[in-house]
Amino acid sequence: MLNEKAEFLRSVRSVRRHVQERLEQGEATAFFYQPPLRTGVSAAGPEQTGEHQTQTPELATLAKRVANCRKCGLSQTRGQAVFGEGSAQARLILVGEAPGAEEDRQGRPFVGAAGKLLTRMLEAISLQREQVYICNILKCRPPGNRNPLPEEIVACEPHLREQLKLLKPDLICTLGTFASQTLLNTHETIGRLRGRTHDYQGIPVIPTFHPAALLYHPGNKQYAWEDMQRIAGLLKLKIPSKKNPG
Ligand code: SF4
Repeated sequence: MLNEKAEFLRSVRSVRRHVQERLEQGEATAFFYQPPLRTGVSAAGPEQTGEHQTQTPELATLAKRVANCRKCGLSQTRGQAVFGEGSAQARLILVGEAPGAEEDRQGRPFVGAAGKLLTRMLEAISLQREQVYICNILKCRPPGNRNPLPEEIVACEPHLREQLKLLKPDLICTLGTFASQTLLNTHETIGRLRGRTHDYQGIPVIPTFHPAALLYHPGNKQYAWEDMQRIAGLLKLKIPSKKNPG
């Protein structure tokens, strides 16, 4: 028994020494920015997908409501609703436009080519996808990936606002015109909105280009990189390299 206690105390001292060393090496930000991870929350919910995720009960209830939502015509054409995924303790939430074909199939946001670029953009500022939360203004896929209709945005917006209320992020990044205009209640273009810090109910909002648009217009990546650096600054993240990830 005495040996076990001594062993336990030795372990505690070792962990404490390790933490102290990392803090002294200036890794405070990286060390403390490790929220408990919450894996994907499919709108279908764990019971229907067979997944076993940790999530808050409130988010799970909202996800189920979204999965059964029939408030607009997209409920007739969707494969499944895409609620969002990430950490329930995320400091940063990224809000995109709507699920595409692959997202509709998998029930997860940003899993296609644009999603891969988004992952690289996050990694460039030392964030893993699992540390943030990713969702869209529309939870169901518009047929043929057409733009969201105004009435669809009006119908779906309360889901997003409820989601943001539950997640309480420190910072929101809106991806593209539709997400930015919806959350900021404006008709200004993304080109005019980006480059500034806006406000959504007391939470700073950084608008930037949608990753899908960046794939078509790679010349805008330099501006997206500036926006990511602004996000890193507001979250006090250490960026290992100032190089644009491209
Ligand atoms: S897009 Fe939104 S409002 Fe329309 S059916 Fe899907 S969840 Fe409901």
